[in-house]
Amino acid sequence: MISVVEARDIILSHVRPVGVEKVDLFSALDRVLAEDVEATRNQPPWDNSAMDGYAVRSSDTQTASETTPVVLRIVEHLPAGKRAKQEVQPGQTVHIMTGAPIPSGADSVVRAEDAIRVDDTRVRIVRPVSPGADLRRVGEDMAKGERLLSAGTVLRPAEIGLLASNNRSMVSVYRHPRVAILSTGDEIMDVGSELEDGKIIDSNGYTLPAMVMEAGCEPIRLGISPDTRTDLEKKLREGLMADVILTSGGVSVGEFDFVKAALDALGTTMEFWKVAMTPGRPLAFGRIQDTLAFGLPGNPVASMVTFELFVRPALLKMRGMSRLYRPTLRATLMEDIRKMPGRKQFFRMCLIEREGKLFTLRTGAQGSGILRSMSLADGLAITHEHQELLCTGEEVEIMPLGGALSFWHERSC
Ligand code: AMP
Ligand code: MG
Repeated sequence: MISVVEARDIILSHVRPVGVEKVDLFSALDRVLAEDVEATRNQPPWDNSAMDGYAVRSSDTQTASETTPVVLRIVEHLPAGKRAKQEVQPGQTVHIMTGAPIPSGADSVVRAEDAIRVDDTRVRIVRPVSPGADLRRVGEDMAKGERLLSAGTVLRPAEIGLLASNNRSMVSVYRHPRVAILSTGDEIMDVGSELEDGKIIDSNGYTLPAMVMEAGCEPIRLGISPDTRTDLEKKLREGLMADVILTSGGVSVGEFDFVKAALDALGTTMEFWKVAMTPGRPLAFGRIQDTLAFGLPGNPVASMVTFELFVRPALLKMRGMSRLYRPTLRATLMEDIRKMPGRKQFFRMCLIEREGKLFTLRTGAQGSGILRSMSLADGLAITHEHQELLCTGEEVEIMPLGGALSFWHERSC
């Protein structure tokens, strides 16, 4: 048996980022930048007002107070989008709106609430301002020529806004890796079927595409193959147009476990491991031409956990990302947990916050076919191979599952 870390290192050593495409900003959310982007302009393009108020020479306001206001002459009313026609001379001011360029001569802005308008041409300033007050400086957001974003950055709304500010409408990003997904097993039937005796419904054919999408990739459903080598080979051949093939089931040592043989027959350089983990264990991995193949175990939770640990980091690397693992949390155990020594066991846990501290306990039975306890889980507790007992009060490391961080506060379990 090899360890989780060994298996993951081997897998990642075979993975390269997929190709690059240009997309418009509107389609760029969650894509990974494939180019370094330089600021080609200053933002803001010029000093401008951060407030509605009066652009002044700050020296004119030094004696201003409620009882001895300074009266300035308004020489212009300046909306955003226009430049002042004249320079502000001593004793003068320009009535300025937020975002309008600061007129020459002025070095600061008096906020509207610190001024009393007398009429269209006069205003009383009741508080002194210092030079630079309420100015937004040219280039304070981005300065022409500086590195704005680096290749490998995931484009979130803020980065998309930066690219827009930089007047870029198209960006180079890694294309979506395409992942073909095949469920295997004579007993497996699709959702919506008239269920015959002895058959079960294909849940992996739905959880795995969902996990692929959650990892920012494009799923392609190959459907269900019965446990025969010819059917498996035919379906797997269809998957060769994808960047990755994922199968579930048929990788153990059962009499009808033909996935590995079918992959071999297609010319896969195949590695087949028992990984020292629970749930999980049997895992096949290899390369057929330009396609990577993962043979995941069939049990619904085992296929999800092996996806999380082995497939997801590989897909993120293919997308051009450098952070391949979810950040983990630490939480205090609220119960004793006995585990099998010699294996890294992943327990389905819910998280509870009490007085700013994070606590955790199992979500129920941990059998590798029990999807309900996976659904109730906020994350997986990561244990060490050598451990046998985890004790109440001990801190454990939790890997949150997709989306969990946004709603575990509202959950109770
Ligand atoms: P296998 O790895 O093929 O021996 O399957 C292990 C267990 O997972 C068996 O109980 C299967 O019925 C179940 N299983 C396999 N594939 C699926 C699937 N696509 N959806 C739900 N359960 C499955
Ligand atoms: Mg099977």
